[in-house]
Amino acid sequence: METVSDKQKILIIDDSEMNRSILADMLGDEYDILEAENGVEGVAMLQKHGLGISLVLLDIVMPQMDGFGLLTVMNNNRWIDEIPVIMISAERGSSHVERAFELGITDFISRPFDSLIVHRRVVNTILLYAKQKKLVGLVADQIYEKEHRSSLMIDILSHIVEFRNGESGQHVRHVHTLTELLLTFLMQKTDRYRLTSTDISVISTASALHDVGKIAIPEEVLNKPGRLTQEEFEVMKTHTVIGAQMLDDLPFHRDEPLLKAAYEICRWHHERYDGRGYPDGLKGDEIPISAQIVALADVYDALTSERVYKKAFSHETAVQMILNGECGTFNPLILDCLREFADRIPEELNSDTTISRGQREMQHIAREMHKHEELTASERTLQLLEHERMKYGFFAALTQEIQFEFTLQPPMITLTAWGAEKLGLDELIMDPEHNEKAIALVGADTWRNLADALRATTPGHPVVSYDCQLNYSDGPRWVRVIARAAWSSDEPPRYTGAIGKAIDIHDSRLRLDDLTRMATHDSMTGLLNHATAKLRIQERLAERPEGCHALVILDLDHFKQANDNYGHMFGDQVLIHLAGKLRQNIRGGDIAARAGGDEFLLFLECRTEIAPAIQRIFSALCGRFQDFPISISMGVATTDTLGTDYDTLFRAADQALYAVKRSGRGTFRFYDSSMEQMLSVISPIDSSEEQPEQPPRTEKGACLQ
Ligand code: GH3
Ligand code: MG
Repeated sequence: METVSDKQKILIIDDSEMNRSILADMLGDEYDILEAENGVEGVAMLQKHGLGISLVLLDIVMPQMDGFGLLTVMNNNRWIDEIPVIMISAERGSSHVERAFELGITDFISRPFDSLIVHRRVVNTILLYAKQKKLVGLVADQIYEKEHRSSLMIDILSHIVEFRNGESGQHVRHVHTLTELLLTFLMQKTDRYRLTSTDISVISTASALHDVGKIAIPEEVLNKPGRLTQEEFEVMKTHTVIGAQMLDDLPFHRDEPLLKAAYEICRWHHERYDGRGYPDGLKGDEIPISAQIVALADVYDALTSERVYKKAFSHETAVQMILNGECGTFNPLILDCLREFADRIPEELNSDTTISRGQREMQHIAREMHKHEELTASERTLQLLEHERMKYGFFAALTQEIQFEFTLQPPMITLTAWGAEKLGLDELIMDPEHNEKAIALVGADTWRNLADALRATTPGHPVVSYDCQLNYSDGPRWVRVIARAAWSSDEPPRYTGAIGKAIDIHDSRLRLDDLTRMATHDSMTGLLNHATAKLRIQERLAERPEGCHALVILDLDHFKQANDNYGHMFGDQVLIHLAGKLRQNIRGGDIAARAGGDEFLLFLECRTEIAPAIQRIFSALCGRFQDFPISISMGVATTDTLGTDYDTLFRAADQALYAVKRSGRGTFRFYDSSMEQMLSVISPIDSSEEQPEQPPRTEKGACLQ
């Protein structure tokens, strides 16, 4: 467990242990010291501690990643905006110093240094940054103060109105809370009114001004104990228009959302959904939603409060009266909200108002912080990023996956802790293309192919899936790399790196290999089957149409006898034996296949003369298998006379084989066109046993039995 300390952390990055120790001695009493031997370790420390590091002391010349490399990484990650860097170096060249400042360092100290100066500058820099952060906080406080003061003014103003009105001091607060509640419920129920949380806050604040126009209503009408006459009521009704007019006449802040909302509320909070309200007789959603909601809040609070002329109704009765339509017509959607959420109203109204008010103020601040993004964006963004990083790190640690992040500039791979351990690599690999361990694991070809595939993506289609083998210490394993290329938002976009993961697909890949093998090979002899051989031969012919190729069909002579005399199993052994011989006697690029039964195919590329090669193979295949004499017949077709069409070659080789069989077996022949005539005059071979045995008619070779 790491011990938690209140001290600020300083990260010293220097390859000389002596230098680090001198600095650590100087600063260790006041600060927690972290040390890194080079830029790579430095990046790892920064990644681990993030904004927990208050200052970096950085050397320039270091192995693996130098000071400039580290500054580049800090810039790319925007750490440089938050963490001050003081460079300490014996390199005094102005170009070095200039470059370092361009990369965002705060200060440059030359070696040899005066320890007092270093100490002073370190303390100053940390204080300066702390001050800057405090300043941001102060601005937020000011925004808060401003917001707080204006709410206070509204409270005072509405209290004056209420005071004159003889109403309880709670009415405005209740209307405020109810408005906020009802609007929040409404937003949960429908998106018809598209109000943001800021709108809700503005409308609720503005609700405090709903009766501001009553300030202009004569005292005797406003506070008349009994019922108002028709004329008096007409006067009373004018508080809506007067209030709106007062707001409209304000010479300042005319475009403020708060004023607009207050205007709507003042003027129309006595309108009715059925059009029978005042002052304008608006109907339905002609009445702004702000005024519709405040109207309901106003009625509810009037019902549940005690007045000189009436007792307070209970919450349940008040809700029922409103729902029954005894207090005017309201928007059915709002009534639905009231019906659904009514239970929560008393609790909200009675809850400690100072707390709920405090919460609302906090929301205000948050909103203001959003509005004043230019002041706080970098800090807020960094906090969010920090949060995301923490979240990502946590989940990555749980998932047991090999996840990676690759950046082109600086060339660097970051692996999850689990992934790094699994692969036997470091979590941070700088310059991975030249990292021997990484390349040995992935293989140079795979590395190149993957890099090419990522580079060939587009911002619209950035994902690559690539199956490859990783060379683990205990043998190779298949993995599927799924990676998403990162493209910059520049025009044109630049490829900047990738994120991705490697999934172990070894077992399923082996199963797939087995299935593929079964589909393409003859199970008994292990040679290719005819269909696959045909495809491969066609590919080969298409690749090198100018080469000289030979297609050979060979068939065992009198093979039935092997089965008949020694049994089918023995026959199988003969076929397996012959397949083995075939395999032994062809070269790497040649193709051997079992065409079916006791018939085999050979495809050879002839670099020298073809006949001797055929003779060599022919001789090698003949002989004995146990007591069974192996005699074969072969028909050969070559591309130099017949071209590269597979079917033509196959047919010709078959005819040559047929000719051999007809003429007595046990030899091979090349196709020639005379065989066509032979075919046309001789009927197909039926049973070879009935055919008169003829001596082999070939000048090319004879089987050695
Ligand atoms: P020929 O000299 O005219 O080629 O006569 P053959 O006896 O070799 O007869 P042919 O080539 O016409 O027929 C091949 C025989 O091979 C037919 C079948 O009984 C046998 N055979 C086919 N497939 C297998 C197999 O998988 N195992 C065994 N043991 N025998 C097979
Ligand atoms: Mg045969």
